[in-house]
Amino acid sequence: MSSDLDRSTHVRCTHPSFVQALRLLVQQETHCVVARLSVQTRAAGCDWQIHEWSPRTELPTGADWPGLADWVVLSFATPEIPSSDALLEAVQPGPWQRVVALVLARDGGEELTATLCDHGQPRSPTSLEISGANRTNWTSERPLTDNRTLNSDLPSDIPPPHTAAPPTLRRHSRTKPALPVPLESLASSHVALVGVGRLGELLAQSLAPLVGRQTLIDPDRVGEENLDGMPALSQDDVGQAKVTAVAKRLVDNRSALVVTAIPEQLRSLVCQRLFDERRFDLIVTCVDERGTSARLKATDWARQHLVPHLDVGALIERDENGQRRLKGDVRLFEPGAPGCVACCPALPAEELRRAEVELAGPVGSLPPGPHLDWSTHRLGSLFHWNAVICGVAIETYLRFLSGEINSSIWTRLIWDSGRPVPSLHSQVFDAVSGCRRCRLPPAADSPGS
Ligand SMILES: [Zn+2]
Repeated sequence: MSSDLDRSTHVRCTHPSFVQALRLLVQQETHCVVARLSVQTRAAGCDWQIHEWSPRTELPTGADWPGLADWVVLSFATPEIPSSDALLEAVQPGPWQRVVALVLARDGGEELTATLCDHGQPRSPTSLEISGANRTNWTSERPLTDNRTLNSDLPSDIPPPHTAAPPTLRRHSRTKPALPVPLESLASSHVALVGVGRLGELLAQSLAPLVGRQTLIDPDRVGEENLDGMPALSQDDVGQAKVTAVAKRLVDNRSALVVTAIPEQLRSLVCQRLFDERRFDLIVTCVDERGTSARLKATDWARQHLVPHLDVGALIERDENGQRRLKGDVRLFEPGAPGCVACCPALPAEELRRAEVELAGPVGSLPPGPHLDWSTHRLGSLFHWNAVICGVAIETYLRFLSGEINSSIWTRLIWDSGRPVPSLHSQVFDAVSGCRRCRLPPAADSPGS
């Protein structure tokens, strides 16, 4: 087993899991809580992910675990064990174990100290992140702040990012007070956006003043038919990769934004390497029904790396009576919590099968079954309706970050002909067991029903 001593080490736990640990910790008889760690090594650093917690009535030691086990222990501070350094010393990790010791101050629970032991060597983790709703970062040294450093780690086939000049305070004077979370806490985040069509471009534009970095992924080129729905683009962009054209517009307008444009399919080798190398704070998918395999791929990555997944779709169709109907879906999946794009709501079995066959096939191969044209399922697309759905999506994510939304959630908007206002349904995913992807059952057919 190789040591990861020369790499940055990021300890990660989902918010639901951390809350579970705290609940166990305050029970009577509980001395501390322990959990298994899984370690993923990437070129840019190691992720030490914390799994299911269990309570202990006594302090464990390395001898209680198999020789090669990786584990974590969390306790409240006591006079005997005031810090994570002291806790690590007390639990005596085995020589081949990787162990994280966490100590939480009792007064208010604001202060959390962390020390890790990597094969006998104690040190501080580079960062400790509780991901998900109301997420918090304890960072001993902010990693990857310099974009040149970031990109020097990457394979040469990932193109250099588009960048612009730093912002001024005046620039944010209208944005900052309107947000439910501090702009500073968002500014260092990195969003991966899969699907930069009409709605995807709007999402990219809306996220641009808020986040520090975006990686745009879409293999398509700009067609003349896109220009009505993507007013930031011009006739000169026709024929260019969508991601490149949109990236240029984003940095033309937004200072300090770093945008990487990847004109590839999500399941390409370039994207595979990108997701192995980089840490994203949010994965957004904005693809139509032909992009189900990309949605599944994104959900798998999001679940594997404990990152929130925001899936957004807008549709204008004819209802069963031939009347025009406007629809929109915004689904936010909290890392480590129930629900994924395969089960909430349940994908039709045939669509799921086609997408899984496509994912298993070589990149660039045609999807199985009949070719679906965009007009198979839709009348068309309108900028103003996309803007409504985009607004709901971004606000859902912001409320998730602020803690107002603290679980996976699905919001559906439907505006039928003959109705003066749209109907809006929201559903929290709280079901249990079943889906092969996230081990949960299919949810009900529609939200609010
Ligand atoms: Zn699922």
